Amino acid sequence: MRVLIIGNGGREAAIGRKIAEDRRVSQIFFAKGNATTGEIGKNISLTDNQELVNFATKEAIDLTIVGPEAFLVSGIVDEFTKAGLNIFGPSKKVAKLEGSKAYSKKFMQDYGVKTADAQIFNSYVEAKAFLETAKYPLIIKASGLAQGKGVVLAEGKDEGMKTIHDFMIDKIYGDAGIKIVIEEYLRGFEASIICFSNGKDLFPCVPAKDYKRVGAGNRGPNTGGMGSVAPTPEFTAEHDMDFRKNILEPTIAGLKDNYLMFKGFIFFGLMVTEKGCHLLEYNMRSGDPETQVILPLLENNLLDTINDCIEGKDIELKFKDEKAVCLVMASGGYPGKYETGYEITHLDRATESTVLLAGASSKAGGVYTAGGRVINLVATGKDFEEARKKVYNDAKTIQFDYAFYRDDIAKF
Ligand code: ATP
Repeated sequence: MRVLIIGNGGREAAIGRKIAEDRRVSQIFFAKGNATTGEIGKNISLTDNQELVNFATKEAIDLTIVGPEAFLVSGIVDEFTKAGLNIFGPSKKVAKLEGSKAYSKKFMQDYGVKTADAQIFNSYVEAKAFLETAKYPLIIKASGLAQGKGVVLAEGKDEGMKTIHDFMIDKIYGDAGIKIVIEEYLRGFEASIICFSNGKDLFPCVPAKDYKRVGAGNRGPNTGGMGSVAPTPEFTAEHDMDFRKNILEPTIAGLKDNYLMFKGFIFFGLMVTEKGCHLLEYNMRSGDPETQVILPLLENNLLDTINDCIEGKDIELKFKDEKAVCLVMASGGYPGKYETGYEITHLDRATESTVLLAGASSKAGGVYTAGGRVINLVATGKDFEEARKKVYNDAKTIQFDYAFYRDDIAKF
């Protein structure tokens, strides 16, 4: 079997590793991949949807798995499907649930999916009038994709006014910010639930937690994720029942009603408050860094699970009774400006965890930093303490200039 995985992060490396364990797989290509995926399979530098279709046709790819949202939102699944190629992910129409926060909020409201109270604005004048008399704090979101930067907590009126001016008039995120969502600020803890979809039903994985802020104690700006754990102990059986009844089931009803059922991953980003689970967002793909902690716990064969979903078969997900931790080593300065090109050393001495090189590339026999989130260290254990020790021991061993990581991942 020949597989193509699209993306270049730790998530794609984790998916690639899991799939490479399968003896039926003869070749895995990654577009465009990273230092770890280059060891698992072959990296290719294509990023254009049509070029990827041509490549998959020429190379007789049996299955393509898509990581990043931008490809889905731009319609890669439609193009592969049109060419008769097997691909796991939602069409452009369905990916809009992630690509437009205004659209997904309306969907949640229409189907009674429990979420933060919100208003959608196309008009700057109307948004301004709303902010004049609103109660703060409020969350203001650019509707389109803004690489995780389009969400602002406005503590007061001045900040709110500045944010809508930045988004709607100065267009700091281009067209992504001309439509906005203003919503109630929810206080609680976050949880991520990734589901497989077989086109008829959604099948949830164990709940995960992503450590979004750059600094220990959840301080500093948001990042792509500085670490993750699964199953997150904060999310109880009671929360799970609440999630299924008030979020999962109405979502399935809405997807069916609107002919939006698809075959792929769907990720529910939740805020759990005293009043229960609220949906912050849908991501129409598997999360990064949540995938890195879900897959080591998954007992099912990943390829069979994906193929069963594509064939519309029901699946039964099984997870090991263990804990998984992912720690991200990042480049100094991230998520702001940072330098790349520093050599990463002592990788061979990091033996306690699985080392996924994400923002890193290999050249001339060495491995060098090439991104903000450089390395994912992933380990499992009978408890979080055991898994935690493994990733932190390896983090102390691996060296590169200006490396940093949070010291409180999996400390509850
Ligand atoms: P990501 O890049 O993580 O997918 P995003 O830019 O698509 O994020 P959201 O997930 O909607 O946007 O919001 C990003 C983060 O902002 C959330 O993970 C959460 O920490 C915070 N947030 C969003 N909405 C709310 C809310 N209503 N109340 C409190 N915090 C919120």
